[in-house]
Amino acid sequence: MSNEIGGGTSEDSSLEKLRTLQITPIDVEEDNESQINGDGGGDGDGDGDGDGDIFDDEDEDEDEEQVPVTLGFVEKPKNRWSLLRQLFPSKAGGVPAWLDPINLPSGRSCHCEICGEPLQFLLQVYAPLSEKETTFHRTLFVFMCLSMTCLLQDQHEQWKRQPEKASRSVKVFRSQLACLNPFYSSEPPKHDGTDKPSGIGAALCNWCGTWKGDKVCSSCRRVRYCSEKHQAMHWRSGHKIECRQLNSYPQSSNTSPTNSSVETQKVASNTIWPEYEIINEDECEFDTEMSEDSKYSNSLVSGSRMDESVKSLLDNFEGDSDKKSWASFQERIARAPEQVLRYCRYESAKPLWPMSSGQPSKTDIPKCNYCGGPRGFEFQILPQLLYYFGVKNDVDSLDWATIVVYTCEASCEENNGPYREEFCWVQLASQSVAVP
Ligand SMILES: [Zn+2]
Ligand SMILES: [Zn+2]
Ligand SMILES: [Zn+2]
Ligand SMILES: [Zn+2]
Repeated sequence: MSNEIGGGTSEDSSLEKLRTLQITPIDVEEDNESQINGDGGGDGDGDGDGDGDIFDDEDEDEDEEQVPVTLGFVEKPKNRWSLLRQLFPSKAGGVPAWLDPINLPSGRSCHCEICGEPLQFLLQVYAPLSEKETTFHRTLFVFMCLSMTCLLQDQHEQWKRQPEKASRSVKVFRSQLACLNPFYSSEPPKHDGTDKPSGIGAALCNWCGTWKGDKVCSSCRRVRYCSEKHQAMHWRSGHKIECRQLNSYPQSSNTSPTNSSVETQKVASNTIWPEYEIINEDECEFDTEMSEDSKYSNSLVSGSRMDESVKSLLDNFEGDSDKKSWASFQERIARAPEQVLRYCRYESAKPLWPMSSGQPSKTDIPKCNYCGGPRGFEFQILPQLLYYFGVKNDVDSLDWATIVVYTCEASCEENNGPYREEFCWVQLASQSVAVP
């Protein structure tokens, strides 16, 4: 009973390592950093800000290569229960495993602000922070509109600065909980299929399985929707018939849609992306001196081959900064070509930009909507994910070069609901050069 994972200690620890995208502290030369963000440490006679900035700029360039990056890869979930919310998963596709299962985002937050469609779940990253009690559990959720037309419009919107209101088609939410909370046991999950959440979650939309289902089909009163759009889609795709059948049976409490104690919810929509578990590996594991028996050794072979073609590209296109940037982006990615995510919450961390043009400056990243503090880079999503989602490569298909997520550096507390909207910056692939 107490022996949670079947395979002995080594498997335990490797599983443990894969389980979260939390970066465990690494004892590299972090002396600088502790001086900069002195809020944790002792002598708080802080006239700090100005000094910190200068310090920061000085060693930014030197440190760039040394900041450790955690890579995310997708895998089919090992078990039916692997991605349930009580296991605090990082996952892509399918439906979100909401951290706070009750107080979900609602209203304008769940919709594309360009076309008005409910947003589709892209991925979530479990990234707890050990420095605060309130971030014992912490998950970031990314949603986007399926329309490439909206994403093209979003390109203009993301440049808008306060007080102008940007209408976004990609959104990020941050949710966090203390160890003691109403939804989960304070004991770590056993990962053996027996873990249960402390209560049931809000009833969800029967079509998308993503957003709160606070509208009910007026005819059968058994199925719930987040929006009229999803009700209409369900109706057209078969509920029209199902609804009549449901109506001809007396309603019993067992079939009530609010009975969501079985949390593996059936989703009617056929446009939901396939579901994957996100597992993580340190990027340094993919350096050339990595061991033969490593799982990704095959990719490395093709990776180094790519290096050479990229180098010749660089020689040919030295002049064009975007082409050059694209080439070095590709070169870095080629170390582990299947990566879908790059995670790095260090202060000096910077995203890996595919293009040199169209990058935000510091002032283009809005301050936290809740505490007014600065936002910092936390992770970026790569277009490889679209391949795993089976998104076609047509002209009007959804496509991006990278989605960069910025979050409140203080990971501030809940004041305005348990899901706080963060900021993302999208670079599109269509702006990039076609690599021959
Ligand atoms: Zn849209
Ligand atoms: Zn819905
Ligand atoms: Zn109905
Ligand atoms: Zn904040």
